[in-house]
Amino acid sequence: MPICHDFHLHSSFSADSDAAPASMIERAVALGLNGMCFTEHLDLDCPPEGPDFALDLDAYFPEIDRLKQRYRGQIRIGTGLEFGMQRPHAAYFQGLVRSHPFDFVIGSVHFIDGKDPYYPSFFEKKSEEEAYADYFREVRALLDLYPDFDTLGHLDYIVRYGPNQNRFYSYARYADVIDPVLRHLISHGKCLEVNSAGLKYGLGETNPARDVLRRYRELGGELLTVGSDAHAPEHLAYDFPVVLNMLLDLDFHYYTVFSERNAEMLRL
Ligand SMILES: [Zn+2]
Ligand SMILES: [Zn+2]
Repeated sequence: MPICHDFHLHSSFSADSDAAPASMIERAVALGLNGMCFTEHLDLDCPPEGPDFALDLDAYFPEIDRLKQRYRGQIRIGTGLEFGMQRPHAAYFQGLVRSHPFDFVIGSVHFIDGKDPYYPSFFEKKSEEEAYADYFREVRALLDLYPDFDTLGHLDYIVRYGPNQNRFYSYARYADVIDPVLRHLISHGKCLEVNSAGLKYGLGETNPARDVLRRYRELGGELLTVGSDAHAPEHLAYDFPVVLNMLLDLDFHYYTVFSERNAEMLRL
C-alpha cells in the first residue's frame, strides 16, 4: 500500500515556515493523502543566530480544529508537536504534552549545549566525528529524561549539517552510540521516525539512514512513523514512494499514525 499519511510537517505556526496551514492541507488533498499531522516547532533557549521557535498554542489548537471541521471527510488532520529535547527543560515539556490535547508528539534533538548544528560554528571546536558521536550520546541521555513522546524525530539529522555531511558517515562507524538509542526505543515501545527530508537535502538517504533502519529491524524494532518534514506545500510526502520501497526491502510491514496520542498501525 502507498504511504498516504504524512506525520511531520510545518506551517506558519513554526518560526521557519511561511506556509498557511490551509495551503498544506490543500496540497495534501491534491496528493491524495488520507491523513496528515501538523507538527509545529517548539524549542526553548534558541541560539541567538536563529529564529525563536516559540509556538502560540492558544492560537494553534483552535485554528487546526477549525480546519479539521472544514476538511472533514476529505482528509484526517492531526494537531501535533515537534519539541526540542534539551536537558534543562524536561519537566516543562513533559508537563506541556500531558496538559494539551495533542494528537501526536515528536521528540527531536535540535540543539546540543545550547548550540545549533545548523550553523557552521557548531563544528569549529570539535571534529565532525566527535560532533556526530556526541549527538547520538546526547540523544540517548535525553531519552531517560523524556518518557512522554510518540516518535523520535530525525535521528542522525546532524549529518545534514556537518562539513562533509554524510560522506564519511555510516551506521557501522557509529554503531556503539546508535545501538543504545535504538534499544531504548524498542524496550520503551516508542516509534522511530523515518524523515524523508534527507532525500530533499541531497543526502541520498532518509534520516535516519537506511542502515540504521536495517539495524533497528534486526534488533526487533517495528514501530515507525513517516514524515516529510515539509515546511512548504511542495515538499509534502516528499519521495514517499522511495521510502516505501526501502521499508519493504528492509522487511518492515507497517507504519504508525496517531490520533489523540493513540497509535494505529497501517499496512505498508
Ligand atoms: Zn526537527
Ligand atoms: Zn520538523
